[in-house]
Amino acid sequence: MPQTLFQKVWDRHAVRQLPNGQTQLYIGLHLIHEVTSPQAFDELAHRGWRVAAPDRTFATLDHIVPTLSQQRPFADGMAETMTSALERNCRAHGIPLFDLTSGVQGIVHVIGPELGLTQPGMTICCGDSHTSTHGAFGAIAFGIGTSQVRDVLASQSLAVSPVRVRRIDVTGRLAAGVFAKDVILTIIGRLGVHAGAGYAYEYGGAAIDRMSLDERMTICNMSIEGGARLGYVNPDQTTFDYVRGRRFAPAGDAFDRACDWWREMASDPGAPYDDRVVLEGASIAPTVTWGINPGQSVPVDGCLPDGREAGSAADEALDFMGFDAGQPIAGVKIDVAFVGSCTNGRLSDLREAARVIRGHRVSAHVRALVVPGSQAVRLAAEREGLHEVFADAGFEWRSAGCSMCLAMNPDRLHGREVCASSSNRNFKGRQGSPTGRTLLMSPAMVAAAAIAGEVVDVRTWGAR
Ligand code: SF4
Repeated sequence: MPQTLFQKVWDRHAVRQLPNGQTQLYIGLHLIHEVTSPQAFDELAHRGWRVAAPDRTFATLDHIVPTLSQQRPFADGMAETMTSALERNCRAHGIPLFDLTSGVQGIVHVIGPELGLTQPGMTICCGDSHTSTHGAFGAIAFGIGTSQVRDVLASQSLAVSPVRVRRIDVTGRLAAGVFAKDVILTIIGRLGVHAGAGYAYEYGGAAIDRMSLDERMTICNMSIEGGARLGYVNPDQTTFDYVRGRRFAPAGDAFDRACDWWREMASDPGAPYDDRVVLEGASIAPTVTWGINPGQSVPVDGCLPDGREAGSAADEALDFMGFDAGQPIAGVKIDVAFVGSCTNGRLSDLREAARVIRGHRVSAHVRALVVPGSQAVRLAAEREGLHEVFADAGFEWRSAGCSMCLAMNPDRLHGREVCASSSNRNFKGRQGSPTGRTLLMSPAMVAAAAIAGEVVDVRTWGAR
């Protein structure tokens, strides 16, 4: 019987069926960070339990780290307390911690792949919703809550319910100026933010096959914003080439053997899907959100929904954003530009943004910052001179962290500021100000908006 990757990986990690219908699933990799782990460790200590598999558990600091001065102790007492707790817990349980002095610290979903910890055919958990990112390698990867972090720490397994699989094909080729971010915003815009409930999204088709791992990570990262528990892309030669030679990847003959096994994990031709969706890649335009969830988006040359229905989600969004029904999204003034996050804070994202801004200056009324997703991304970008391109244009060049994606650190919006952001959530208050407004878009579009001072179409703006 042909099977999907989801089914194969699930079956190979199933420990046993539980009386309540759930499966006890073995977890191959547990990534932890400073925000969702302290309480879980406290509960372990309370019961006198040890971490079951410290060799499969890896920690980093990302959400709360300041990106300007990283002098310890941090100025923010809460950040210092959380950091100290993670350091203490990792020491006590023998868990590797990639801290600020490690040279590889960064956002958990950026460093897992970079270090070769993320591999095809794995089950991966982390106390962060965007763990779906790791599905880009052909893994079953999903976010968990603090009590589940405790369970995985204690047993290296988790009680979970299986999901259905929706295959999403993106056919053909993307046009110039259209990126993975536009693809996933378009998918979420068309299907809605709740359509993925109870599903895993399997992405495929010629446009996805052609994508780099960085781009596939952007797609899988935002699966959760479409309501899916997880998203994945079947592993292929692009995947193997990315993993080869990384610090925790198998080496030598073991790598070749691993590739054979990883190939077997890919969905079989004729595998059964619970649903199928097809999008034509060439039909996708640079996409911008205008509302308060990632499904409220329009092509950059489009207009906001026309007409208002009292009490509707669109009505609430228009009110919050202060936009008019039917107005064009292009031309909306921005105050802040943010390039970063686990969605679009990788080297390829920084390269795209730098390509757009080279030789230009950030608009006088815009505050612009670039926050590399990891110390490794920052170093690689500096080796290429990208930091100088950003600095010359008037962008602030920061240290690695989650930064303004969720503003659990000093990077935040103030008042009613409008932010062109390469992150993944535009919820009310997400970027630190309860009244702040977020427009999600690709890094290239953020860069163009920073220069123009307003939302512009990067396809035509670059030609001016
Ligand atoms: S960048 Fe944002 S979404 Fe990603 S891990 Fe950090 S806070 Fe979560």
